[in-house]
Amino acid sequence: MAKVAIIGAGFIGLASAAWLMRDGHDVTLFDPSGVGQGASYGNAGTFAHYGCIPVNNPSVFRDLPRFLLSSQSPLRLRWGYLPQLAPWLGRFMMSSLPRRYEASAGALAALLSHAQDGYAPLLADPGLAQFVRARECLYLYSSASSFDGARPALDLRRKLGVKFDVVGAGDIQQLEPALAPIFERGVLFSDSWHFSDPHAFLLALHAQLAARGLKLEHAGVSAVQPTAGGVTVVAEGMAQRGYDHVVIATGARSAKFAKQCGDRVPLDTERGYHVRYAGAAQLISRPVGWAERGFYMTPMRDGIRVAGTVELGGFSDTRSRSLLDLLTFSSRRALPALREPDSSWLGFRPTLPDGVPVLGHSRASDRVIYAFGHQHLGLTLAGISGRVVADLVARRSPVLDLAPYAATRF
Ligand SMILES: Cc1cc2nc3c(=O)[nH]c(=O)nc-3n(C[C@H](O)[C@H](O)[C@H](O)COP(=O)(O)OP(=O)(O)OC[C@H]3O[C@@H](n4cnc5c(N)ncnc54)[C@H](O)[C@@H]3O)c2cc1C
Repeated sequence: MAKVAIIGAGFIGLASAAWLMRDGHDVTLFDPSGVGQGASYGNAGTFAHYGCIPVNNPSVFRDLPRFLLSSQSPLRLRWGYLPQLAPWLGRFMMSSLPRRYEASAGALAALLSHAQDGYAPLLADPGLAQFVRARECLYLYSSASSFDGARPALDLRRKLGVKFDVVGAGDIQQLEPALAPIFERGVLFSDSWHFSDPHAFLLALHAQLAARGLKLEHAGVSAVQPTAGGVTVVAEGMAQRGYDHVVIATGARSAKFAKQCGDRVPLDTERGYHVRYAGAAQLISRPVGWAERGFYMTPMRDGIRVAGTVELGGFSDTRSRSLLDLLTFSSRRALPALREPDSSWLGFRPTLPDGVPVLGHSRASDRVIYAFGHQHLGLTLAGISGRVVADLVARRSPVLDLAPYAATRF
């Protein structure tokens, strides 16, 4: 049995704790915000095992200039952040070249192919399975030309093993009658599902693990220092502590710990938003995405959550009124019965420029394990990431080759 500290209590940290505790380890989580805050709090809730097409794909060369300048665009740049973002953006563009993009898609597809197995032991528990809604996600296109533009990506998905059906306007109305008849084509992704309340799921998971001995320190970690026989964790307001292993699962805030452990990773954030319509969940039966507007509408326990958009703009807390308006305006256009949203949220997706997470050992020590950078897929990939973390701690061979996810690839 090893003493393991996990820094960060989002989807990745919690799932890592679950898998490590299955192996009998003594696990402590560190997070000043408690459980399931960060990007994990307000996401769209979809188990998107079909999500192997990263944002860095060849269409950005065609679409990016238009996206960055249009007020209807779901992808924005805070121009004041451009000087800091420039190196990341340069790498992002390079990663969008066809060969590199295909390599990223392949790496994501390989992880995603284990995503369901990664969740299986967690969801075997009825107390956690109660949050799963097994309704396939529907992704919609309001114009035939944008569907045609998405065909190469759909073809690549199919080649990488993703199963889906293409549906037309009539099928869409039948599947979700409350939608306005503005959608020409849709894609129904087989075997996808969603959580009825991602935060409540994480709280329930934490409660179960805590009952079995998981400790939670409400403290921010300032330093992680590999030593000869383990790792020292320096946390605010606490004496230094030694662990056998440390897992870095601090989402978009992970680069500083990687640097302390010998790795420079170009991690930045894709800011994303949600607005919630309380009590409207009965309008749709499944997550419905609108491709051109870059968001999902997910029926959750407390209403419909409209989540998505990408804003490249660093970690400021200032929200974009224009993106929140876009979510509100567009969701009401898609679902005319929606009234006024009653709350909104901003979250920080952790994103490497090639769209592939970092999973593996640090350069300085094999006792420091990285599990961050899951961009739009952290909920989906939490189970498999936790399994990989537990394999690395136990020195078992992981279920897949970890080379594409190494921090040293940069
Ligand atoms: C709008 C939106 C919609 C999304 N929809 C989906 C979806 O439908 N499906 C999907 O799979 N993914 C989705 N995602 C992505 C997903 O939410 C993220 O990939 C995921 O939450 C990342 O989890 P994480 O545990 O790595 O990071 P986080 O959830 O951000 O957790 C990191 C934690 O680390 C803590 N932390 C930071 N610094 C320190 C420190 N110094 N010491 C201690 N703790 C620290 C933070 O407090 C935080 O709690 C969406 C994201 C957004 C923004």
